[in-house]
Amino acid sequence: MKIRKLKLYKDLGCASCNSSITESWNHFLDCLALQEAWKILFFNFRPQVQAFVLKLTKKDMSPSQAAAFTSSLIGKSYDDLTFRTFKQWACEGKILLAHSKTIQKSLHLSDTASNTFDATLLLHFTQLFKMNVWKIQCENQVKWECEHAISRKDKCIQASDTNNEDVDNDEGEIHSDNIIECHRPNTFSLNVQPILRDTPGSSQLQILDDIDTPV
Ligand SMILES: [Zn+2]
Repeated sequence: MKIRKLKLYKDLGCASCNSSITESWNHFLDCLALQEAWKILFFNFRPQVQAFVLKLTKKDMSPSQAAAFTSSLIGKSYDDLTFRTFKQWACEGKILLAHSKTIQKSLHLSDTASNTFDATLLLHFTQLFKMNVWKIQCENQVKWECEHAISRKDKCIQASDTNNEDVDNDEGEIHSDNIIECHRPNTFSLNVQPILRDTPGSSQLQILDDIDTPV
């Protein structure tokens, strides 16, 4: 927000924890004020994944084996490093190719079943993410705007202010309504890192952005 509308958001740090830190993707994932929301997401997500593992696996698997497999996939708890890595990519609708291959091999899935598994995993995650984490983030953002007397009208005016060299005019209109952003987590206003195109290992990413996600 600060990058797009500097005049309005020059005082904005993190609207959730009120720190003066510059908005970043990493801070969003690790922000202390959002940890309870991530915890709730994990608490709901984990049984969904475990049930789905048991449903789709083509090999004999006990519930405890499915639980162990789920832990290896998404972590044992919301503050587990494994979950941190998983959520980092899942927030962008992606799953690491290495994870995908491990799932396929471990559950003896066909290519089609593997794709279904990955897509469903991300779908469940995205739905819980919207309901729990992104909703809180948006509420905090709106609260911050109210506290700083930024109205919807201000945002629209700012978006069309062609004299402001700091405004990204390509996106100003699209993102002028915060509520829309609340329902579009893949259009984060945060400073999302490029998808590691310049980083070794980027070929290990499987892009699943085109999943049809019902809201
Ligand atoms: Zn924060």
